[in-house]
Amino acid sequence: MTDKTASAAAATQHDKNATLARVTVLLPLPIGEGYDYRVPEGLDLAEGDFVIVPLGRRQMLGVVWALGGSGDIAEARLKDVVGRLDAPPMSTVLRRFVSWVAAYTLAAPGQVLRMAMSVPAALEPAKPVVAYRLAEGFDIEGLRPSAARRRVLTLLRDLPPLPAGDIAREAGVSSGVVKGLAEAGALATVLLPPSLRPPVPDPALPGPDLSDDQRSAAEALSGGIGGGYSATLLDGVTGSGKTEVYFEAIAAALRDNRQVLVLLPEIALTPHWLERFEARFGCRPLEWHSELTQAQRRDGWRAVSEGKAGVVVGARSALFLPFPDLGLIVVDEEHEPAFKQEEGVTYNARDMAVVRAHLGEIPIVLVSATPSLETVANVEAGRYAKVTLPDRFAGAALPMIQAIDMRAHRPAPGRWLSPPLVEAMRGTLEAGEQAVLFLNRRGYAPLTLCGSCGHRLGCPNCTAWLVEHRLAGRLQCHQCGYTARLPSECPSCQSTDGFKAVGPGVERIAEEVLHTFPEARFAVVASDTLAGPAAVGELLRSVREREVDILIGTQLVAKGHHFPLLTLVGVIDADLGLMGGDLRAAERTYQILHQVAGRAGRAEHPGRVLLQTYDPDHKVLKALVEGDRDRFLEAEADDRRRAGMPPYGRLAGLIVSGADQRLVEAVALRLGRTAPREEGVRVLGPAPAPFSILRGRHRCRLLLKTAKAIAIQPVLRRWLAQVEVPASVRVQVDVDPYSFL
Ligand code: ADP
Ligand code: ZN
Ligand code: ZN
Repeated sequence: MTDKTASAAAATQHDKNATLARVTVLLPLPIGEGYDYRVPEGLDLAEGDFVIVPLGRRQMLGVVWALGGSGDIAEARLKDVVGRLDAPPMSTVLRRFVSWVAAYTLAAPGQVLRMAMSVPAALEPAKPVVAYRLAEGFDIEGLRPSAARRRVLTLLRDLPPLPAGDIAREAGVSSGVVKGLAEAGALATVLLPPSLRPPVPDPALPGPDLSDDQRSAAEALSGGIGGGYSATLLDGVTGSGKTEVYFEAIAAALRDNRQVLVLLPEIALTPHWLERFEARFGCRPLEWHSELTQAQRRDGWRAVSEGKAGVVVGARSALFLPFPDLGLIVVDEEHEPAFKQEEGVTYNARDMAVVRAHLGEIPIVLVSATPSLETVANVEAGRYAKVTLPDRFAGAALPMIQAIDMRAHRPAPGRWLSPPLVEAMRGTLEAGEQAVLFLNRRGYAPLTLCGSCGHRLGCPNCTAWLVEHRLAGRLQCHQCGYTARLPSECPSCQSTDGFKAVGPGVERIAEEVLHTFPEARFAVVASDTLAGPAAVGELLRSVREREVDILIGTQLVAKGHHFPLLTLVGVIDADLGLMGGDLRAAERTYQILHQVAGRAGRAEHPGRVLLQTYDPDHKVLKALVEGDRDRFLEAEADDRRRAGMPPYGRLAGLIVSGADQRLVEAVALRLGRTAPREEGVRVLGPAPAPFSILRGRHRCRLLLKTAKAIAIQPVLRRWLAQVEVPASVRVQVDVDPYSFL
C-alpha cells in the first residue's frame, strides 16, 4: 500500500500540468486496493473526498485514495465518478491510519476503510429537525385534553419549539401524545436547522485538590499537549487517582481547543466513569459503542467530524472516527485483552491507538495499575515515558492479601467456600460491611454429566461442554450461544436417573451463600444476569446504598467500581486462569486478581483479600501475596525473553476453517509444507485448534514465530501468496494474537 501511494504521488508530480483524469477510489469492501475511475469534466476532486462510483450494476460510496490513478484499468474500460459528496473529506491522517492498520493486520484496506466510514448516513447533508409549538388561536378546552396532553400544552407555553422526543421526555408522556396533539391541530410544526451541538465539557471547572505526586504527574501529562507525539505510561495502584490525573491532561487539551479520545474497555458497563466525568467537566462526553441507535451514531459522527465533540469516550471502534483536531488519546486499563478485536479486522486498539497518535503527532497516555508486558518493555526500551503514582489517595491502605491453601482447608464435598473464607465472611457481615466473591465463570456449573454412564453434555456445533444456567433453566454453549433444555434422559445410555453438575459457576456459589448465610442479601453479577448499562447502574446504586451484603460475580465485579464499605474479597478459584497455559495465562491471572483485590478497602476501612488456591507457591500467587508486582513482571519478562515470545519476539496465528474437514486439513497441510524456512523464523503446526469445531466449522491452527527484529508481515505475505485456498475455506491471519483457541 505504501509503495502504491508513493508511486501515485510520483505520478501526480509527473503530470502536474496534465489534467488529473484518473483517481483511485477505495471502496469499503474486503477486496482489492482500490479501483481507477475517470474524473468527468467539471468535477474537481481532491484526495480524501467522498465520492459515488459505479461498481458492476450498483453505485457505491468510496474515498478518493490517490489522484492520478494506478493505471491498472485500460482507458476504454474506465468508468466515470458519479459525483462527490458535500461532506468534509477524510483527513490525511485518517487515510494513512487506514492504510497502516491494513498493512499491519494483513486486512484488505477496504475492510479497514469500512470501519472508518461505518455511518454513511452521517455523510448526507443533515436534515432539518421537525419541532412543535402551540398552534395560535386553537381552542384547547374544546379538545377536553387528558392529563398527559395537558402536561404537554403547559410545557410548551413557556418553551421554544422542540422536537417530539424532547417534549415527550420533558412532559413525561409518550411521543404518540405529542403527535396526537399535532394531528388534532393543537400543535403546529416548525422546521429547525439541524443542531449538532453536544454539550461542551468545561475545562475551567475546578478539579479536586491534587496531592503532590498527583500534581506532578498531571503536570507531566499536561505538558505534552500540543508538543507532538509522545507515549506515556501512567502507572499507579488502584485508588491512586490515575483517573483524576488524566482528567487534568484532558482539561489541558480542551483549553488548547483540541479534541480528546478516551478508550475504555467495555464502556457500556462503566456508568461510574461517566458520572465522574460529568462531575469534573459539567457534562457527559460523547459515547461511542455498539449499543448506540442509528440516529445517535449519525449525530455523534457529525459532531466529531465538525469538531463539536470535545471528548469522545469509546470502545475500540472510536479510533476510526473522523476527528479533525485530535489533541490527546488516553487508553485506560491499557492491559485489557478486550482491546483486541477478534472478528473481521483483528487489531489491538491499544497498539493502533499508539499508531494513530504517532501519525497525528499527538500525545497518548496508557493507563494501568497492572501494565501489560508489552508496555513495560516499551518503557524499558525508552520508547515510552513513565509517570508513576506510588500510593493510594488519602493514605487509604492497600488491602492485605492472603492465600488459603485448599489442601489444608477443604470445603465439604459439593461446597466451594473453605472454612477460613466462611469465617471471614461472617466477621464482615457482623461488622455491617460488604463482601465480594469472585469466580470468572458464568452459570451454575461448567460441566454436566450423566449420573449413570458419565456421558458429558456437549455442544452440537462446537468442541465445548454445555454450561448449565439454572436461573434461566437452560444449558448454554459459551462459544456459539446454542441453548437447550436439560434433556429428560441421557442421550447416550437413555437413563432417566438424572444428571450431575460438576464444578461451580457463580450461580452455584450463590446457592451456597444462601445456604450458609440465609440472612444475607446477595446479588449475582455476570454479563448474562445484567443486561445493559441501566441494569449495571442500578446494581451499583444498590451496593452503594447497602441494599446488598454479598456480591457474587465474574470479572464484571472487578471493573473500577468504588464501594466504601466493601472490605472483603474472596477469590473462589485463584488457579482457574492459570490452567489454560497460554502465553499470557500468568500475566492475565495476575492482572485480574490484582484488579479484583483492588475493590477491597478503598476508603477508610481497611480491606482483606483471600485467594483460595491449591498451588500457593505459584509465582502469580506469591507476587500477589507479597505485593511485589515488579518482581513478578521481571520474572515473567525473563521467561518470555528466553522463549523468544512477545514482547521479545513476534507471533502471528493462522486459523484455517471451513465446513468440510478434509478441505480444511488439506489447506492446513499445504500451509505447513510451504512454511517459510528463514533464519529467525519458525512455524508451529498445523494442529487441530483447541476448539477444533466452532459454530459447525472445523478449525486448524498454525503459529508463525519470528525474532523481534524481523517484520512479520512480509514473511506472512510471501507465505500466503504460495497457497491457493478454495472459496469454502477461510484462512484468518491474527497478528499479535491474544487468543490461541
Ligand atoms: P484510580 O483511577 O487510580 O483507581 P481514582 O482516580 O479512581 O484512582 O481515585 C480513587 C478515588 O480517590 C476516587 O474516588 C477519587 O475521586 C478519589 N481521589 C483521588 N484523588 C483525589 C484527590 N486529589 N482529591 C479528592 N479525591 C481524590
Ligand atoms: Zn448416560
Ligand atoms: Zn457451541
